Amino acid sequence: MAGASPPAGKRLAVIGAGPGGYPAAFHAALRGLDVTLIDEEENPGGACTYRGCIPSKALLHAARVIAESHEARAFGLDFGEPRIDLDALREWKDSVVRRLTSGLGLLRGQRNVRPIVGRAHFSGSRSLRVLCGGSLDEVGFDHAVIATGSSPVRPGPLALDSPRVMDSTGALELADVPDRLLVVGGGYIGLEMGTVYAALGSKVTVVEMLPGLLPGVDRDLVKPLATHLAGVFDEVLLNTRVTAMAEAEDGIRVRLAAAGGAESERTFDKALVAVGRRPNSDGLGLETTLVRTDDRGFLETDGQRRTAEPTIFAVGDVAGEPMLAHKAMHEARVAVEAILGQPAAFEPAAIPAVVFTDPEIAWCGLTEADAPADHVEVVRYPWRASGRAITLARPEGLTKLILEKGSERVLGVGIVGPNAGELIAEGTLAVEMGARASDLQLTIHAHPTLSETVMESAETFFGTSAHYIARRR
Ligand code: FAD
Ligand code: NAD
Repeated sequence: MAGASPPAGKRLAVIGAGPGGYPAAFHAALRGLDVTLIDEEENPGGACTYRGCIPSKALLHAARVIAESHEARAFGLDFGEPRIDLDALREWKDSVVRRLTSGLGLLRGQRNVRPIVGRAHFSGSRSLRVLCGGSLDEVGFDHAVIATGSSPVRPGPLALDSPRVMDSTGALELADVPDRLLVVGGGYIGLEMGTVYAALGSKVTVVEMLPGLLPGVDRDLVKPLATHLAGVFDEVLLNTRVTAMAEAEDGIRVRLAAAGGAESERTFDKALVAVGRRPNSDGLGLETTLVRTDDRGFLETDGQRRTAEPTIFAVGDVAGEPMLAHKAMHEARVAVEAILGQPAAFEPAAIPAVVFTDPEIAWCGLTEADAPADHVEVVRYPWRASGRAITLARPEGLTKLILEKGSERVLGVGIVGPNAGELIAEGTLAVEMGARASDLQLTIHAHPTLSETVMESAETFFGTSAHYIARRR
């Protein structure tokens, strides 16, 4: 792919400088396009770096350190109660964001990408208007990439406008540590941010409208997490909805309705609403183009991320699920290669997903629930049979392989346990490369490591595991 030079004077405008936009701009500039990158922030980073992936993971790291200081008592190490300097913690989190976003700003300059700070909307299939401060600039382009991301939703009774009701951005600001925190939504954000606030000292109540946490995620993986969280959170209320929210003198008064019909009223000092996100596709002037949205507001694209308007591409959250940073980055490269006329396509065999809770949950490829039962064999390797997991005092983990019957090809991998988010990379590579169980079995894995559980899962499939005798299901 490298080496082919683009036609001279090809102007690319990228709208949004998150994990979809900035990699598209940087890659296009490296490939010789004349690139303008438009975002409301001075530096690239997007929701992920300013108010998503990065600050949440910085705070989750702090939460893990706090939890470990408690857990260490079980093996004779008592550090006492951690003293938390909230201002210092907030400043550290902010410094992580500053460091990364200013670094991206430097890279943008080094790659000769032209920045425009402002809000863009289309005025046609080859032109944009950008509101910068009080002035409106016109930007012409030969191609554009829309990477405007997504925003939190606050439906119905959750829309209460109160400083006590936060979305993920508000929760990441870490203004204080409320004594009683209500988390509405037991998905990615609810559980990650709930974990942070519980570690800092909040009594956290999670309300989830469906029968289990992280709906849609493999239940084998969720089970150890749910067990662990039962000891971390004050309460987890499943099958429960918030039907009303109001300001009260001493907090937020909330009416809860359980699926069976039981209703109750409770007061919390603060609430975090984390019930999903919607694509940022409004106000983009799409009516001046042929770009189409689906019924949820996602931009419709083909396998190269080209919209119905031939000059305009879309990547990242605005272009559809899963709303994950690494999916956006991969799409960005595909879109730019397509713009350059290369035969690129977005066809991953596996997109890893990681929930950065404690324990972490990670999976890729086919899940057991998705796979037709007569088409796959499922292997489970419990971490109580892993020497490394025992040394970490974390035997509750599980590594799971979904193998194609007959060929033994690895179609999916699921992991729950500390560092599952790092371990899943091997699974993703296995699925992408069409590896077979024997490839995992015969690859030497360092001992003692958690990565051995991937090899041992394959050994378990063949009935040759040294450390675990499994019942095949
Ligand atoms: P964004 O990152 O949302 O960037 C879009 C950019 O476009 C923004 O800077 C926005 O200001 C700008 N923009 C929008 N409209 C305009 C306009 N009209 N003109 C100019 N600029 C505009 N994903 C993971 O993979 N791992 C994680 O650990 C993770 N953690 C998360 C934690 C939280 C709390 C949240 C909220 C999200 C998290 N995500 C995570 C999801 C991840 O942040 C998104 O999938 C990712 O940011 C999507 O990238 P994007 O480029 O599509 O959009
Ligand atoms: P989510 O879809 O992960 O979870 C929302 C949860 O809220 C679901 O469990 C849903 O059943 C529940 N819910 C919906 N309406 C409700 C209601 N009225 N009352 C109670 N529960 C309700 O959404 P999120 O946590 O807001 O995160 C949004 C997206 O951001 C994620 O889907 C993911 O794509 C991305 N994200 C990723 C990461 C990561 O990769 N680690 C972290 C955070 C966010």
